[in-house]
Amino acid sequence: MTYTLEGNTGTWEIVVGLEVHAQVISQSKLFSGASTLFGGEPNSHVSLVDAGFPGMLPVINQECVRQAVRTGLGLKAHINLESRFDRKNYFYADLPTGYQISQFEHPIIGTGVVLIELSDGSTREIGITRLHLEQDAGKLMHDQDPKRSFVDLNRAGVALMEIVSEPDIRSPEEAGAYLRKLRQILRYLGTCDGNMEEGSMRADVNVSVRKAGEPFRTRCEIKNVNSIRFVMQAIEIEATRQIEIWEAGGEVDQETRLFDPNKGETRSLRSKEDAHDYRYFPDPDLLPLVIEQDWVDQLKQTLPELPDEKRARFQKEYGITAYDAGVLVAEQPTADFYERVAKGRDGKSASAWVTGDFFAALNRTGKSIEESPVSSENLGAMLDLIADGTINGKIAKDVLETMFETGEAPLEIVERKGLRQVTDTGALETAADDIITKHADKVTEYRGGKDKLFGFFVGQMMKATGGKANPAIVNDILRKKLDA
Ligand code: ADP
Ligand code: MG
Repeated sequence: MTYTLEGNTGTWEIVVGLEVHAQVISQSKLFSGASTLFGGEPNSHVSLVDAGFPGMLPVINQECVRQAVRTGLGLKAHINLESRFDRKNYFYADLPTGYQISQFEHPIIGTGVVLIELSDGSTREIGITRLHLEQDAGKLMHDQDPKRSFVDLNRAGVALMEIVSEPDIRSPEEAGAYLRKLRQILRYLGTCDGNMEEGSMRADVNVSVRKAGEPFRTRCEIKNVNSIRFVMQAIEIEATRQIEIWEAGGEVDQETRLFDPNKGETRSLRSKEDAHDYRYFPDPDLLPLVIEQDWVDQLKQTLPELPDEKRARFQKEYGITAYDAGVLVAEQPTADFYERVAKGRDGKSASAWVTGDFFAALNRTGKSIEESPVSSENLGAMLDLIADGTINGKIAKDVLETMFETGEAPLEIVERKGLRQVTDTGALETAADDIITKHADKVTEYRGGKDKLFGFFVGQMMKATGGKANPAIVNDILRKKLDA
């Protein structure tokens, strides 16, 4: 279903393209040996290259190149065996060199694609225009001294991947799905931790509006939005602003804007600068970056299984729905946990327990799957106890609760609390006879046609056995006795 906004002059469509800056996971910076560790004392991870000392020469870090290529492969993108680094010139106090080393005309990665899933179950492909490597800048600290600002260069020179999408996104929901999917792929690859709160992934959001079928109109770029929710809000607010301008007979100016989540508005930062303002030129300190096809092939072969493939495999191998498979592969540790539980067991019931009671218990206790007191081995053992008839499904829920509290193995709990399922037909027959005698009035009603009362008798049987009766046997016995 297409997402549209209604104006006074008719229906408007939103057009969005995202530029995502993703911090590369690497030990050292893009062109220096300084550490990338987060949270060090200000200026404790700064080499002379990062500080822009005259005469210092940048040297490319192979690991950052490897990570960019792996990311490109994960985005099913074209890998450019030759790429170049350019200087993007501008003055800012957190940029001691006066230029950022980036890639302009010859990025390392070309066109690719990201498949997104929407809440109605449909999927869409969002085109990737390019991915290039560039340096991050330092950080200004304005709040330490009443008169002065300080600069921390720890982040200066850290490798970023700028991942640019085609203007293929058509709604806030699609933008959110795109960012979640991109983050998921980066995390599976281990090329970026995707932590938007810490700034290791941030998005520039390009927004325009048009009437259906029209060519694209002028866009505005909203800089550095640092959460998925804010990206989605900013798109809607900015689109609404642009529609009002067009409908009042005005023109949208191409400009860079900021999103203020507290005020719920976007504000102009500066009119859009053009490429020539940055006076891009090839960095004379760096040779063209040339990589071998063999190396790319090798990296491709050692890529981990990615979310789309894992999801398809889970559906096929474990017979679960696309939706459940999607939930399970959302995070790699969850997918691994599920797979350990499901291996050699009924995949559907494993999925039901993991996404149901198990996730609910994690949520309730605020624990991540890595911190779960219930191991995959123990959850699997619990499924075995259900499958071999040691406990019924209802009791299993209580057993799982206890497993969360004590971390015990399920069989220990079953023995300690005497929770074994009652399958002794003789005992269950006696219990049924008692119940039938005690509730003779209900029996008459039931036999007179009030079928719904059957559930009442099942409930009584469970009550009589502390919930431990085998439900199938209970059903058989009650049918036999009541319908006789
Ligand atoms: P620049 O180099 O000025 O940043 P690009 O052509 O590289 O411009 O585009 C940057 C981003 O803007 C891309 O993500 C692209 O998809 C998006 N974009 C381009 N045109 C439009 C448009 N009319 N509406 C919305 N987004 C757009
Ligand atoms: Mg741009």
